[in-house]
Amino acid sequence: MTGGAGGGVDWPTAGSPVTPDAAAGAARGDGTPSVARTPVRTCVGCRGKGSRTDLVRVVAIEGVAVLDLRARAAGRGAWLHPDPACLALAERRRALPRALRVPAPLDLAELRTGLERLAAERGGAG
Ligand SMILES: [Zn+2]
Repeated sequence: MTGGAGGGVDWPTAGSPVTPDAAAGAARGDGTPSVARTPVRTCVGCRGKGSRTDLVRVVAIEGVAVLDLRARAAGRGAWLHPDPACLALAERRRALPRALRVPAPLDLAELRTGLERLAAERGGAG
């Protein structure tokens, strides 16, 4: 056990710092999603957790809750299972206006129609 690492430490990276993000980015984008790095969302209805492919994003536009299927709309979003039952739960506890930070009466008719269509598509295809 002889300690002492000498004294001359050379720093090899003068102008090209290696960031952790660069290493992580290399493993991304090849079509194979990494389970460990999948962001987990919480359904505002049943409070169950799921990935962003399991849940759908909901945004409020001028007092109307709408589906944001591409998850690209600006502003706050809430996540919900594509299941009318989860919308009913969210509606009962007024979770959507709270999650979206909008005044309480939120028009859910369009959202409900979209969810029912989604549920029918997913249920019917499988
Ligand atoms: Zn749910």
